[in-house]
Amino acid sequence: MRTYIVFIVGTAGSGKSRLTEAFGNWLKMSKQDVATVNLDPGVDSLPYSPDIDVRDYVNISELMEKYQLGPNGALIMAADLVADQIEKISREIEELKSDIILVDTSGQMELFAFRASGPYIANELTNEPKALVYLYDAVFSVNPSNYVSNLFLSTAVLNRLMLPQLHILSKCDLLPREEVDRIVDWSAKQDALAEAIETKLEGTKRLLNRSMMRAIYNLGLNFPLLPVSAKTNDGMVNFNTALERVLAAGDKYTF
Ligand code: GDP
Repeated sequence: MRTYIVFIVGTAGSGKSRLTEAFGNWLKMSKQDVATVNLDPGVDSLPYSPDIDVRDYVNISELMEKYQLGPNGALIMAADLVADQIEKISREIEELKSDIILVDTSGQMELFAFRASGPYIANELTNEPKALVYLYDAVFSVNPSNYVSNLFLSTAVLNRLMLPQLHILSKCDLLPREEVDRIVDWSAKQDALAEAIETKLEGTKRLLNRSMMRAIYNLGLNFPLLPVSAKTNDGMVNFNTALERVLAAGDKYTF
């Protein structure tokens, strides 16, 4: 039996926790055996009850008090302490015997993606097949310059973690359909993004974004965006089909 592990990653507020909740519920309704893991020791409240919660292992308030740290220092220390607990967390995951595990990562993406502990956790969290879902916040991505910045961030995450990666345009209910289609078009066709950069940006910003876009395309990377809403469940079917393809060669997780 396989357990597929899916890390949900994105900048602070991009919708990781809401997507974990909504996609988890959607999978349950589709009769898939799913469980959720909260990997963020610093989160106050979550929109779902995780089956495994890293806050049971690492307590931010205790770290602040014991080591006289501010909230940021405690979060950094906590991210590294989570790595120390990875064997226990892996055992908990194995005991769940679920077919797919959604792992909601740290609110601040850099704590997961840009510290030494991140790739270690991604590697060591069981020996099961893994994928990463990277969220582009739809409202942030309406501007081609913000979109290109996110393209770079998602490439940096790929460079750090080297897991099969899917790209989601999150919160797509917050934009009119034509705006969503425009951003999806940028992700699918270099010409569409090039035209937006030429027409919507000026001066140094235009030059910079043009060069950044070319650098990504010269790497041969192609990150087609799948629009999804955790509020309306729009796009969940396509998201799930893409994830099944990446993880299970197109099969369902649970038969
Ligand atoms: P995280 O920091 O990446 O985990 O982001 P959250 O899941 O906490 O979401 C940040 C904010 O965006 C919250 O106020 C959510 O309710 C809101 N949000 C997340 N996903 C959606 C969505 O699909 N649609 C709408 N309208 N709001 C969303």
